[in-house]
Amino acid sequence: MTCSKDYIERAENAVLHTYNRYQIVLEKGKGVRLYDLEGKEYLDFGAGIAVFALGYGNEEYNQALKDQIDKLIHTSNLFYNVPMIHAAEKILKASGMSRVFFTNSGTEAIEGAIKTARKYAWMKDNSTDHEIIAMKHSFHGRSLGALSVTGNSHYQEPFKPLIGGIRFAEYNNLESVKEQVTDKTCAIILETVQGEGGIYPADKEFLQGVRKLCDEKGILLILDEIQCGMGRTGSMFAFQSYGVEPDIMTAAKALGCGVPVGAFMLNEKTAARSLVPGDHGTTYGGNPFACAAVSKVFDLFEELEIVKHVREITPYFEEKLDMLVDKYEFLTQRRGKGLMQGLEVTGRPVGEIIQKAMDNGLILMSAGTNVLRFVPPLVITEEDIDEMADKLEKSF
Ligand SMILES: *Cc1c(COP(=O)(O)O)cnc(C)c1O
Repeated sequence: MTCSKDYIERAENAVLHTYNRYQIVLEKGKGVRLYDLEGKEYLDFGAGIAVFALGYGNEEYNQALKDQIDKLIHTSNLFYNVPMIHAAEKILKASGMSRVFFTNSGTEAIEGAIKTARKYAWMKDNSTDHEIIAMKHSFHGRSLGALSVTGNSHYQEPFKPLIGGIRFAEYNNLESVKEQVTDKTCAIILETVQGEGGIYPADKEFLQGVRKLCDEKGILLILDEIQCGMGRTGSMFAFQSYGVEPDIMTAAKALGCGVPVGAFMLNEKTAARSLVPGDHGTTYGGNPFACAAVSKVFDLFEELEIVKHVREITPYFEEKLDMLVDKYEFLTQRRGKGLMQGLEVTGRPVGEIIQKAMDNGLILMSAGTNVLRFVPPLVITEEDIDEMADKLEKSF
């Protein structure tokens, strides 16, 4: 039998080395657990980067995909297909938005959101010099448009020039956002909870202030819910707990629970005056296979009362993490919302802790430079949380 070590060597000889991967070849999953080629078990508090909300091997989900494969996998957007319509209606009902465009990834959803904002502004004054305000320490994806609004110079530097007219403000600092507003500003883009940047939830006053600013100045608010959406924070979408509605929002990651799919959604006002035929497209977007997954994900969220479960289990999870912060000096802060939590680590390399955790059969991820990130499947139980904490303590 070929072992992990051989496969890893072959991967490094074939796949472009753009990731420093953990030296593990994953083979299968069940519930909240993953297994590598040698059969070692891992408790998964990463969920494939906040993707596998329902856990692995949900039979109803798997069956829905199998059934769709046997019917029709792809049609192109020159035709209608039924799963797309179901998925669209469900995502609009869950988000309160008016129109959706399906993409194949998060970054592609961001591209669509940026184009929508620019087109909306162009419809107003026929000029093309519009600006977008984005946040420092944000993450919106790797394609050139998404990278341009990603507030991380390390990711940006080698790829300049990026798209023009992007200004950066401080997250959770309304004054700093106001300072970047000009008469050319067409949109403000931010994550409702910053993920990759280190797990920073937006303050309520900040988000409400940004919304008010947008209303006063005729600016569109784009909320990126790619990581924090889909029930993760205890609301179907994180903005729903802020009393604020976006004009444009993006989703991906847990939207298909493993099938590559994303979406951007517009409210009525934005949909009425932005993209029209010829403005935007994608060959795979809205494909019946991906949309069968999306549609089933929304059904299962309802059936299993996922959002309610997240709300109910969050206090237990937070308490457990707070206990660790109290106990260990190098854990300096817990931040987060629902099942999207971070522990800030001071004076110790986060990577080493994560490596130790893997050795102990616990998958964790980092965020920012010094944060342990917890984004488990949304179906975790109190016992899973206890086990996680035990394995983590062992790794300290
Ligand atoms: C992951 C992520 C993206 C990019 O999504 P991809 O599917 O990797 O392209 C964009 N925004 C946020 C907030 C993300 O977490």
